[in-house]
Amino acid sequence: MAKISINMKEGKINEQKEIIIGIDLGTTNSLVAIVNEGKPETIKINDSSSLVPSIIHFADNGKVVVGAEAKTKLITHPLHTIFSIKRLMGKSYGDLSQKQSLGYQIIDDSTESLVKIKVGDTFYSPIELSAEILKELKKIVEAYIDQPVSKTVITVPAYFNDAQRQATKDAGKLAGLNVLRIVNEPTAASLAYGIGLDSSTKTIAVYDLGGGTFDISILRIEDGVFEVLSTHGDTYLGGDDIDNAITRFWIDQYKIDMDQMDSSLRQELRIKSEEAKITLSDNDTYKANIGTLNLEISKIDFTKLVTPIIDKTIELCKKALKDAEINTSDLDQIVLVGGSTRIPELQSRISDFFGQQVFTELNPDEVVALGAAIQADVLAGNNKDVLLLDITPLSLGIETVGGLMDVIVPRNSKIPIKAGRNYTTSVDGQKNLKVSVFQGERDLVADNRKLGEFILKNIPPMPAGLPKISIHFIIDADGILRVKALEERSNTETEIEIKSQYGLSEEEMAKMLLDSMQHATEDMKIKALIEARNEGNGIVLATNKFIEQNGWLEDQDKTELLKLRDQLIHQLKQGDKDDINGAMETLNTFSRPLAEIALDKNVAKALHGKDL
Ligand code: ADP
Ligand code: MG
Repeated sequence: MAKISINMKEGKINEQKEIIIGIDLGTTNSLVAIVNEGKPETIKINDSSSLVPSIIHFADNGKVVVGAEAKTKLITHPLHTIFSIKRLMGKSYGDLSQKQSLGYQIIDDSTESLVKIKVGDTFYSPIELSAEILKELKKIVEAYIDQPVSKTVITVPAYFNDAQRQATKDAGKLAGLNVLRIVNEPTAASLAYGIGLDSSTKTIAVYDLGGGTFDISILRIEDGVFEVLSTHGDTYLGGDDIDNAITRFWIDQYKIDMDQMDSSLRQELRIKSEEAKITLSDNDTYKANIGTLNLEISKIDFTKLVTPIIDKTIELCKKALKDAEINTSDLDQIVLVGGSTRIPELQSRISDFFGQQVFTELNPDEVVALGAAIQADVLAGNNKDVLLLDITPLSLGIETVGGLMDVIVPRNSKIPIKAGRNYTTSVDGQKNLKVSVFQGERDLVADNRKLGEFILKNIPPMPAGLPKISIHFIIDADGILRVKALEERSNTETEIEIKSQYGLSEEEMAKMLLDSMQHATEDMKIKALIEARNEGNGIVLATNKFIEQNGWLEDQDKTELLKLRDQLIHQLKQGDKDDINGAMETLNTFSRPLAEIALDKNVAKALHGKDL
């Protein structure tokens, strides 16, 4: 891509050359940036800001509104106004915590499939909703440079797993963007500060306090390779908590009757709380009225409210340092990211904790997008000296005998990467082999996250142990994984590829594009019940088999197992989905420690060969 020249009068870019854009798709705010004449810049949406609130409102007239206007509907139209959609990206129902109380409706379905959100009579996936935000950003940048864009780099938190990255990529696709690269947010923030653009070796901390989340990442950068030494954080800690603390402070102070609080007063209080927080960054007091109510808060009171939040982040920083096995004195730089790090009190506390100046020259809510634009510029071929590589955040492997995790790509491997291992069969004449792919650091696959599975079919009949099956993991530069299995001995090249089970196929994508209007039916409920029943029946069978195969079980444990099994059978006959899940959970909780003992016994047996 050639350099762009800007006509200053018009503020428009003249040359019709292809531009790759950088996008920070945030939980609270999103924004887009480009490199212009060698300099990264965010695209402004008005005189003062480039931040687009990550909020989507479905208006009565069928229009979809994204950004500041949608934010005004948050309290008044909670069921039609979607925020924090990033929290749901790549998540299945089973992943959602109890904490998840968003104002809108999340459809309760079985545990394995992806979450959907119900607005009116229509179901939307988080991918579709994120795509609405991306479409808006695309429109903003196209209006500014006066030409269409089709390629982008999008940032995600360092801890995002494969499903979450894939979902982000799919959202881009749905918005008509080719996502060339998914980049870790702390990596992007470092790039914005020029860290990693030269050949020096550095260890840095990226402290990111946004609207709803806190992330601390410790990175080591060597020859343009970004290694995530550790990440910690809290997915429910951020500027929103500060706003809520101010609201509560006023409610107490002015004895506002909660019962009489209507949605417009609630909305007003929310707006004024955020305004107070921002004002107090440069002023000693904040005053405002809502109707006859006079609100006031001093910097001293404000500081008291934010202190516990800062304390929490510092505790998490300590954990991240411990995990990375370094001290604060080993850090070369501290980079502050996220709108909430504009608070002066926070900056000085963090600087004190790390024992050095913190980097704040760039706008903390823009650094990630600026870094994304720099990465985009590198991909466009404008910055040939730079080689940027990322690293896998979590280990990847497959399930082997006894439910054990066999790691093929360890965490913190440089990507792109191809790694493989050989396996064999455990039964004579075995024709099929199931390969289940997991992500995580625990020894038992049950504690890790399943990414997908496939069956290698038509293995020619051979005695157990003879087939030579190689399983390869290939991770591309975006951290997206493909798995291939191949039986080598028989020369019948059987090769299978899988993507994450949460990735969308071309057909699914096409279908989504065509009918983003799916109608609510009872189907989901029925499906959830059927799936719970299937799972429950499987557990009953497994329990019977377990008792049969493990003669060492004590009588009292056996009796309890049988009792819990019968309770489950009872619920399978007449309970609803929740009853069945409850009975399964009770049985599982009781049997888990016993299963672990059994597993230890199996592992001892299996240590001779690596059978699947
Ligand atoms: P995210 O990365 O979560 O999308 P941002 O980095 O854009 O979010 O941060 C948004 C948060 O920053 C909001 O809670 C907002 O109120 C807060 N914020 C913005 N400016 C200031 C300021 N001057 N002082 C304190 N908080 C601020
Ligand atoms: Mg952010």
